[in-house]
Amino acid sequence: MIESPFVTKFTDLGLADPLLKALASKGYSDPTPIQRQSIPPLLQGRDLCGIAQTGTGKTAAFALPSLQYFMNNPKPRPLAGCRMLVLSPTRELASQIATSFRDYGRFLQLSVETVFGGVPVGRQISKLRAGVDILVATPGRLLDLIDQRALTLKDVEIFVLDEADQMLDLGFIHALKRIDKLLPRKRQTLFFSATMPKTIAELGDRFLTDPVKVAVTPVASTAERVKQFAIHINQAEKQALLTLTLQAEPIDRALVFTRTKHGADRVVKHLHAAGIGCAAIHGNKSQPQRTQALQAFRSGEIKILVATDIAARGIDVSGVSHVFNFELPNVPEQYVHRIGRTARAGREGIAVSFVAEDERPYLRAIERLTRVRLDPMPLPENFDARKAALPKPSAPVRQHDPRAQQRGPRANPAREGERTPGGDRPKRPFRRGGKSGVGAHKGAVRKFGQR
Ligand code: AMP
Repeated sequence: MIESPFVTKFTDLGLADPLLKALASKGYSDPTPIQRQSIPPLLQGRDLCGIAQTGTGKTAAFALPSLQYFMNNPKPRPLAGCRMLVLSPTRELASQIATSFRDYGRFLQLSVETVFGGVPVGRQISKLRAGVDILVATPGRLLDLIDQRALTLKDVEIFVLDEADQMLDLGFIHALKRIDKLLPRKRQTLFFSATMPKTIAELGDRFLTDPVKVAVTPVASTAERVKQFAIHINQAEKQALLTLTLQAEPIDRALVFTRTKHGADRVVKHLHAAGIGCAAIHGNKSQPQRTQALQAFRSGEIKILVATDIAARGIDVSGVSHVFNFELPNVPEQYVHRIGRTARAGREGIAVSFVAEDERPYLRAIERLTRVRLDPMPLPENFDARKAALPKPSAPVRQHDPRAQQRGPRANPAREGERTPGGDRPKRPFRRGGKSGVGAHKGAVRKFGQR
């Protein structure tokens, strides 16, 4: 799968000329995030589970690769059947989807038909007789036609279930289960929903095989409610900046994102050394460790959770006031997911990105995607002096540091037998109080809320 911040044009996604021409004639040159994430794996024939709302460009995300598949795999239309079935909860959406297929496929010789309730069935039966390439249908009418032997699903090669959450809300669950049994096992399946609660995910499991998962948040609405800042800083000084900022900033709950698991552990060690309660969740933690960390974060026992992107996917915690990008993600959509963790339910949130010299291209890609310029933020006052007063990076936590236990008992990395990555083992014991600088400069850092 191509996942690079520099992929910004449809021409980079591996689409064939007739599709590129159709896109150009609509005036589209830049794929939307869901298109950038979905098109490459779909072209490879993968199943896909997408969390995306209408308005994100998801129709083209599934229409374009499917059209390309039919272009590359021509076959006669199956009598009273179809090669692709798109299920939509409503007629309106079904019509829109069909129109999109016709638009994007205008330079291909493929037939696109719709079937939905509320219109006479006779014409639909005759349209289906000779077979169609792409059929867009609502579940009820589809089953009527199958019951009348006007249609079979045995030739379906690609199946799309769109707006799964709406389907369930509209009471289509039994219809979907029946349709599932009528579809061939061997097929490509795409499953979209605006939300993915457990019931929907279970429905997805029924249809999907080893799917690629993509999720997009409506970029504008997230970005608008989050105050976004960027601080330019050397990689080596990021830890001190984080520690000082967390000490000075009034924080309800903060998520700190690192790019690697080791990076997350390292941050936790340093924060513990400074007496800041926190925990890490990432792929090297056991499930009970993750659950405990998340519970402690949810309950407010710890205010800071350090996470990698993958581990953070399942986190849905309300009241996250701050997101810190300790390292910028190299995929700009990921930035949107990260900052979408704050500013939930209409609240305001603050996102602060620590940008090292070599991360500037990532920052530019993020700004291009979100169409938001991150506000530059200066370093805290007296940064160098205060940095020097912090507990030294290589001397953080004693085996059972009571303070770290008290504030972040489940996250004390020393208890997990971890070492500071890079071989820098603790050289001197943690210095308590005194000149550590902890808490000595509260309020000195500019408040993020004040602009
Ligand atoms: P959808 O979420 O599929 O309903 O698409 C929302 C709207 O965005 C539709 O009007 C599409 O035609 C339009 N659209 C889809 N892809 C793009 C794109 N890459 N650039 C601009 N507009 C697009």
